[in-house]
Amino acid sequence: MPENKIHDVIIIGAGPAGLSAALYTTRDRYDTLILDKSGLPGGQILLTERVENYPGYEVVGGFDLIEQMVKQVQNFGVSVTAGAEVTTLRRRDDGVLEVEINGGEKTHLGKTVILCPGSDYRSLGVPGETEMRQATRVSYCATCDGAFYRDKHILTVGGGNTAVEDTIYLAERFTKKTTLIHRRTEFRAQKILVEELYEKAGEHNIDIKLPYVIDRIVGDEAGNDIDHVVIKNVETGETEDLKVDGVFIFAGMVPNTNWLTGAVDLDDAGYIRCNCQTLQTSLPGVYVAGDCRAGAAMQLTTACADGVVAAMMLKQYFRDPSAWKAETAVGLGGAGW
Ligand SMILES: Cc1cc2nc3c(=O)[nH]c(=O)nc-3n(C[C@H](O)[C@H](O)[C@H](O)COP(=O)(O)OP(=O)(O)OC[C@H]3O[C@@H](n4cnc5c(N)ncnc54)[C@H](O)[C@@H]3O)c2cc1C
Repeated sequence: MPENKIHDVIIIGAGPAGLSAALYTTRDRYDTLILDKSGLPGGQILLTERVENYPGYEVVGGFDLIEQMVKQVQNFGVSVTAGAEVTTLRRRDDGVLEVEINGGEKTHLGKTVILCPGSDYRSLGVPGETEMRQATRVSYCATCDGAFYRDKHILTVGGGNTAVEDTIYLAERFTKKTTLIHRRTEFRAQKILVEELYEKAGEHNIDIKLPYVIDRIVGDEAGNDIDHVVIKNVETGETEDLKVDGVFIFAGMVPNTNWLTGAVDLDDAGYIRCNCQTLQTSLPGVYVAGDCRAGAAMQLTTACADGVVAAMMLKQYFRDPSAWKAETAVGLGGAGW
């Protein structure tokens, strides 16, 4: 059943992007509703204990940072509605946006919407991955976690551009040894990157093993560290135990946008297309911010920045919703920035 109240802004996703957007919309006195599917709002950054690249903090825990962000938003009178998974978004003929949660349990109405559902790292699904991810010994982001592996031995996994680039990045800057495995006999990454990888392998102690996959990640008795990783040669089936301190998995990301198919323009990978200056999507009155956006830098600070841009830009929509339509004709970029 639709509720009667029409909110000025509905924010979908209470990660850094959504909370930053809310900070601005609430301070601008827009009636704001924040919906998050999780029982504990805050998004992906909750999964890490150490953030070293959020301006203003030398080191901050993801949970502590989000706690502050949530408090800050609450100070302006808005709290996050948790356990509210948005399953449908549509626009009525009168322009009002309908946001349906939990498969039709309830429908919220809004004049504008900011989409901030984020993206998830694609996991391998191998035994031990989840446990060691919780122990912060399995990572999916070199920029985020590379600095924790100074003079350590790590295992990197993947065959695309990110896997090759980030393996070089980690080996050049931090690690004592890096073992890179890929399940095929050739990398998918651009040739120039693969050439660079092989050129730098000797100098930076990169051991490249093809075609190998992770069989399982074995934690130590306390479950705090990796004891060893069992890797398997795909062709021979032979296994090998590898003593490493950390594992970086570069298997791509999956935007949380399935439910938006047909509602807004998505790119081939499912990221939300937008005007890269205003963050407007193809649906009038609907904006996007954070890791779910085509061209996103996938960082905490940029997610926050996106939230701010979307919140600032929707003011223009409130001033003159019809102006938006003229702009979309030329403004919807392909890959964002
Ligand atoms: C382990 C780890 C460590 C990281 N470390 C760093 C770091 O050190 N520095 C850094 O800059 N970045 C780091 N990142 C990346 C950073 O966390 C992300 O870039 C950032 O969280 C993206 O913010 P977001 O708001 O776009 O999305 P998210 O944080 O993913 O938040 C999205 C929110 O939307 C909700 N949601 C999803 N779908 C729906 C739906 N249909 N309905 C309602 N709610 C929905 C989710 O529950 C979630 O709360 C790290 C990421 C991880 C996983």
